[in-house]
Amino acid sequence: MSRYFFARTTCMNTKYRGRFAPSPTGPLHFGSLLAAISSYAQARQQQGQWLVRIEDVDLPRCDPDSTKLILKALESYGLYWDEEIVYQSQRDKYYKVALDVLNTQNDTYGCACTRKEIIKAIAANDTASVYPGTCSNGIAKGKTARSIRMRANNSKMSFNDAVQGEFSQHLAKDVGDFIIRRSDGLFAYQLAVVVDDALQNITDVVRGSDMLDSTPRQIYLQQHLNYATPNYMHIPLATHSDGHKLSKQTMAPAITLDDPRPTLIKALNFLGQQAPHELRDTNIETIWGWVIQNWSAENIPATLSLPYNDASE
Ligand code: GLU
Repeated sequence: MSRYFFARTTCMNTKYRGRFAPSPTGPLHFGSLLAAISSYAQARQQQGQWLVRIEDVDLPRCDPDSTKLILKALESYGLYWDEEIVYQSQRDKYYKVALDVLNTQNDTYGCACTRKEIIKAIAANDTASVYPGTCSNGIAKGKTARSIRMRANNSKMSFNDAVQGEFSQHLAKDVGDFIIRRSDGLFAYQLAVVVDDALQNITDVVRGSDMLDSTPRQIYLQQHLNYATPNYMHIPLATHSDGHKLSKQTMAPAITLDDPRPTLIKALNFLGQQAPHELRDTNIETIWGWVIQNWSAENIPATLSLPYNDASE
């Protein structure tokens, strides 16, 4: 077994290590800026480190130009990272070691089902709304494995989120046996993020609330890989007035790099931080100085999403 799998540490004795982990599918928009700002403020306020990890594990959806734009935007907004940037596209060897551990423990199984077959199986089953485990006891004769699934357990997984409070999920019922290696051979996000957070010794994960319901799966994987579980904080998502999350798909505009101050202040206020209006007339360093002094996670609205008013910019 690799040395990487003896890394169970307790977060209590470890210096704060946070991270921002964007998927480079487009430039930084207001929604992703919120995750960057909150993870940065939390880390810096506790004199911790803040790392950037480019989550390009899903290579077909990513593009190198977006990575450049995201990094440029982080610098313009005064968000400077520690250590070398990690790229998931270069880390298959680590994911493979983790997968081997899970395979050896019989936590996984090969799945031959196509998307169509899964939809059909769910429709034919009155009780299942998730993958019904068709291949969990072996693949039907004549079929070959396409993906690899992690067996979900039958108990309730709960954790305490620093903003959203107690969150619970019944993995078997709510999620089902989930994919950790996809049919195209790529490692699934759920496995990659867990391996990376552990190998980078991340103590605190601060990210958007769209990841909240992935967290029980991630904690479950951590437990099976004997990794420590970081602290989690899921911040509200910014939505368009129609309630849709700001994203590339919903045409969220890139944040401006010309004068980042108004957008930075707007983002701080979105996060409940009540930044004084006069800060607009200062510079980015002064704004960050104010943030480090005054940032309060308790002021972040404990809600999954909030409308973002682009007219007020
Ligand atoms: N890569 C994910 C995104 O850009 C974030 C994942 C995470 O922070 O764990 O939405």
